[in-house]
Amino acid sequence: MSHYQRPSTFGTALRLHLNENTAGCSPRVLAALQAVTREQAAFYPDYDRATALCAARLGVAAEETVLTNGLDEGILAVATAALRTRREKGATEAVIPEPAFDMYATCADAVGARLVQIAPEPDLSFSTSRVLEAIGPQTAVVFLTTPNNPTGVLVARESILTVAERAQHALVLVDEAYVDFSRTTLIGDRALATLPNVVIGRTFAKAYGLAGLRVGALVGDPSTLEPIRRVLPPYSVNAYAVAAIEAAVQDRDYYDWYLVQVDESRRLLFDALERLDVKFWPSAANFVLAYFGDRSADVLDGLAGRGISVRDRSHDPGCTGCIRITAGVVAHTSACIAALEEVLCAAR
Ligand SMILES: *Cc1c(COP(=O)(O)O)cnc(C)c1O
Repeated sequence: MSHYQRPSTFGTALRLHLNENTAGCSPRVLAALQAVTREQAAFYPDYDRATALCAARLGVAAEETVLTNGLDEGILAVATAALRTRREKGATEAVIPEPAFDMYATCADAVGARLVQIAPEPDLSFSTSRVLEAIGPQTAVVFLTTPNNPTGVLVARESILTVAERAQHALVLVDEAYVDFSRTTLIGDRALATLPNVVIGRTFAKAYGLAGLRVGALVGDPSTLEPIRRVLPPYSVNAYAVAAIEAAVQDRDYYDWYLVQVDESRRLLFDALERLDVKFWPSAANFVLAYFGDRSADVLDGLAGRGISVRDRSHDPGCTGCIRITAGVVAHTSACIAALEEVLCAAR
């Protein structure tokens, strides 16, 4: 039930279904990959320098940062560490406010946690009180996402801190996979000084365009990260990923350029959906969730027929009739909007 299903894509389609960087990685990343030597490929990777560079980029110390094989591996490590050290005290529950990124349930289930999936509010907003109600001594880990995936809506800082305070005996993963696009982060927030149970998840898959190379990071208090480091393999980040991440975090111009593309794409999508009278959520991320209701199958088919992959989110709790569209390079977004207009007008 919680086994992650890879969504299907077809050959040469415009990929607007997985929130990837639709421009690709920085050209400097490609140059760094091409410069990888035979020895680098042959030797076990050393990523201390990459960790230091990422930590500096995120504004924290290297000992507060662990690089992982994508944030997916970080999620699994958090779930594993949370259960490993809490199970004997009877804390075996994973609290997941829905709708949520699939990997939380997949990973929590993999480590034998009991899943406490909180049904969504009708408008898919974050209910602090309902999350608080679900937390007790039996809680081992809480998964929060801001901006949320699939809605793209930010969770208020106060809500996150209130939950983290209530769940002090548990690990609280605050998944910030999309904060590059919202330009908000809890990293460096002074309130975290008294909440060492909070671990922040980041990824270089989305804004930096390294999804194919797999680099994520966990940020937290060194004492909190220690049991997480223990459950991670020593060479999670491979030599190519190391070369890529070092180049990526140093190419600020490319990153800034892409963020502006996403800002503009998101605005174009909001305008188009409003014009087409389609309800959507005010996303702060690089995608927009829209409600097409009973037209959603036609929209999926119509876009697929025009070579555009978007993500059917109908099967997520509370998301019947919803489709998630990646906001990437402006030209890609414009192509999607033109196709969407055709499909919806034809359906009228
Ligand atoms: C994409 C995504 C991740 C995973 O990122 P990877 O680094 O590619 O493993 C984690 N959390 C959320 C919410 C995501 O959308």
